[in-house]
Amino acid sequence: MSDYIYICPACRTHNDQSANNCIRCGHWMLSTTYPPIIVKKKSSAAKIIGIVAICFGGIVIFGTLLVVVFLSTFDGSSSTNGDTRAAVSQSGKK
Ligand SMILES: [Zn+2]
Repeated sequence: MSDYIYICPACRTHNDQSANNCIRCGHWMLSTTYPPIIVKKKSSAAKIIGIVAICFGGIVIFGTLLVVVFLSTFDGSSSTNGDTRAAVSQSGKK
C-alpha cells in the first residue's frame, strides 16, 4: 500500500509509487532533473465525503432549479395566488 501518487512531470499521468517509468509516456520517474510530483493519496473516507458533497450539491442545485421551474410555470396563470388575491379583495369590499 503506497500512500503517495507520483505525477509524471511530462504528461501529468498518475503513476504508482513503485513505477520506475511513467505508465503513459515512459518518462523516467526516478529522474532528478525532471522529478515526478509527489502527492499524498486521499483516504477513502475523504473520497466518500467528496462524492457525497458533490451529490448533495447536485441535489441542492437540481432542487433549486425544480422550484424555479415550478414557480415560473404557475406564475401568471390562474394559480392559487390569483384566487387568494380575489378572495382578499372581495372580503375587503364587505
Ligand atoms: Zn508521463
